[in-house]
Amino acid sequence: MQAPLVVGIDLGGSHVTAAVVDAAGTVWARAKRDIDRHKPAAALLGDDVASTVRDAVQQAGLSLREIVSIGMGLPGNIDRARGVCRFSPNFGWRDVEVAKPLEQVLEVPVYLLNDVRSHTLGELHFGAGKGVASFVMLALGTGIGGGIVIGGRLLEGSHSGGGELGHITVEPDGPACGCGSHGCVEALGAAPALARAGREAVAAGKAPGLAALAGSPEAIQGSTITQAAQAGDVGSLEVLAQVGRYVGIAVASVITTLDPDLVLIGGGVAAAGDLLLEPLRAEVGRRCRMIPEGATPIRRAALLEEAGVMGAAALALEACGHLPAALEHCVHAPSAAL
Ligand SMILES: [Zn+2]
Repeated sequence: MQAPLVVGIDLGGSHVTAAVVDAAGTVWARAKRDIDRHKPAAALLGDDVASTVRDAVQQAGLSLREIVSIGMGLPGNIDRARGVCRFSPNFGWRDVEVAKPLEQVLEVPVYLLNDVRSHTLGELHFGAGKGVASFVMLALGTGIGGGIVIGGRLLEGSHSGGGELGHITVEPDGPACGCGSHGCVEALGAAPALARAGREAVAAGKAPGLAALAGSPEAIQGSTITQAAQAGDVGSLEVLAQVGRYVGIAVASVITTLDPDLVLIGGGVAAAGDLLLEPLRAEVGRRCRMIPEGATPIRRAALLEEAGVMGAAALALEACGHLPAALEHCVHAPSAAL
């Protein structure tokens, strides 16, 4: 055991996961439950999320008194100093208190960060970004999130919006995006866009392998397309290549802006591996002409399914001074409230 012990919480649109993690990044126990994201925030946090934390702590054979701090990653724009979610389209939240309802029932300080910025911290401390001075992370899932580390520091930006790479425009007149803009890479490269392109390929008779595997168009998901592509379905391979090209356009813009040491691609869609990454790298090669071709490695992130909780645990460990800080950790409500 490497004290101290913290809890990392990954709050997503359909479920919440909590894990007890020590300072070496070892997961002691984890718990997960489905959630209803339309439930009032105070009840969702005070009941469902808090119970998941208690379950994980209990499974580790510990009590909450032995947990020094809690980190939580959630989708949206976060005011870390106040422990408030300013805006989350996924939950329909605007200026919602998130840290306080949890602290009131758990009596442990809670620190918040945007989910993919949190994944990025996890990769920095425990994953593929360890020892890398500057890297960029994109997580391709239900949406596309991002995070940027420059000189060992996580970029937050003036309005906590630094690293929102999913909202880089890749098609000026492209489909509407959840952010209110059009043609963002998220609208063309996240899992729903992948599924839509898969259904179109099936409807056009171009993906018989996918049609057979899914059974019905409604059953087509990103994972089904990856599976069909791995089995050689040409239409599914083309759908993944198209997504790779769109993400490649965004990655090329980021590389051109920052010239980072490394680009990491995570999230569920990245499970397609080189079927996605090869067309992505080729697109980057076509567009990044100011640095030597292939000079920036583009790899899969390392933490995979654990990225959410490990990132949140890294945040908690940083906040209590047990990992080198990649961002300023404000002393917020917990120390005053507890
Ligand atoms: Zn957008």
